[in-house]
Amino acid sequence: MKKYDYLIVGSGLFGSTFAYKAMQQGKKCLVIDKRLHLGGNIYSEKIEGINVHKYGAHIFHTSNRHVWDFVNSIVEFNRYTNSPIANYKGKLYNLPFNMNTFYQMWGVITPSEAMERIEEQKHEAAILLNGCEPQNLEEQALLLVGKDIYERLIKGYTEKQWGRKCTELPGFIIKRLPVRLIFDNNYFNDKYQGIPIGGYNRLTDGLLTGVETMVNTDFFENRAYWESVADKIVFTGKIDEYYGFRFGELEYRTVRFEEEIHDCCNYQGNAVVNYTEAEIPYTRIIEHKHFEMFGTEVDKCHKTVISKEYSTEWKPGMESYYPVNDKKNSTLYDRYKLLADNESNVIFGGRLAEYKYYDMHNIVEKVLGIFSNS
Ligand code: FAD
Ligand code: UDP
Repeated sequence: MKKYDYLIVGSGLFGSTFAYKAMQQGKKCLVIDKRLHLGGNIYSEKIEGINVHKYGAHIFHTSNRHVWDFVNSIVEFNRYTNSPIANYKGKLYNLPFNMNTFYQMWGVITPSEAMERIEEQKHEAAILLNGCEPQNLEEQALLLVGKDIYERLIKGYTEKQWGRKCTELPGFIIKRLPVRLIFDNNYFNDKYQGIPIGGYNRLTDGLLTGVETMVNTDFFENRAYWESVADKIVFTGKIDEYYGFRFGELEYRTVRFEEEIHDCCNYQGNAVVNYTEAEIPYTRIIEHKHFEMFGTEVDKCHKTVISKEYSTEWKPGMESYYPVNDKKNSTLYDRYKLLADNESNVIFGGRLAEYKYYDMHNIVEKVLGIFSNS
């Protein structure tokens, strides 16, 4: 008899949701994490009374009622609605592309006027394509919204974010951004969205209540021991590392955050401001208090914390944020996945173990799915 039913490597949303569901079934779990805190990338730190998202701004959104009810059963969520602003050379535009943006861009007032402008520009793009399908992000964007929006709100931001020219990027990246002929600045199309009241750590703490946890504990530093303590392992770290990088290392894109504390109540008036011109080196500025403080609450807290985000080329040893789903890395991942599929006592789950850009709701859905069949 081993001491635990499950050793869970990683206390991010996958590991902690798994631990919660397993404990409900009477299983004994140990969660270990190599970082100094629990929660993985949704961890936030209290600075000047404000919850600062240490690994990038996180907004929970889903259309799945089951997922929404589940997370709200752990901690209630607030009414935050993401409505980023784009700053292009000092002029502000609403996102995603909607009637407010078209008014700011062209002064058009009605949906039919906006449609006429977009159609005109789309027509120009179609002539350039000469009947061919768009081959890259630039061609796709021009065909979707035309050159004015592409040049002011897409080109610079995208090239900074991905570190490559729009002509060298796949078109699908831009296709998920909504284009709306209504005055609606809600960035997501999902039915539900919000931030846990009191911050994301309350979600992690709620999921891990009653579960044994150890931080500052790297699975690979004592692998043989950790493999001996439980009947099964739930592994949420990097899949290539699990296999000793035997086929080579998977690549990522990373982000560097520059945090600043300001002696004012309100720095930019919104949680997210994107800088869409190429000349400004960061992609966006996050002002964390606006995720949880609304209306007059903003002025009651006399300081504010902002993070400037710099999208950065990844090198081994850096934080691994975004999987690079190009052909080379996808093929490499498939080779590791083949090994993983043959493991009977290890469950590989989450963004690093599945080398997939999952949003938080995808992770919760995935774990609830595993337990709905058992
Ligand atoms: P993680 O949170 O990365 O957890 C993995 C854990 O495993 C980490 O704590 C790590 O320390 C630990 N670990 C790894 N290796 C070992 C080891 N060898 N030993 C011990 N522990 C180990 N999603 C949204 O829905 N909305 C958003 O707005 C959003 N914004 C994002 C912004 C950024 C910058 C990023 C990178 C992601 C964003 N996401 C967002 C996605 C979200 O972060 C993920 O869906 C979710 O956090 C993934 O959870 P996870 O448990 O798979 O991974
Ligand atoms: N995008 C853009 N301008 C913006 C915001 C987004 O051109 O102001 C593009 C960019 O290429 C990005 C894509 O739209 O990669 C998808 O945006 P989203 O915010 O969904 O990206 P995420 O940061 O979640 O990857």
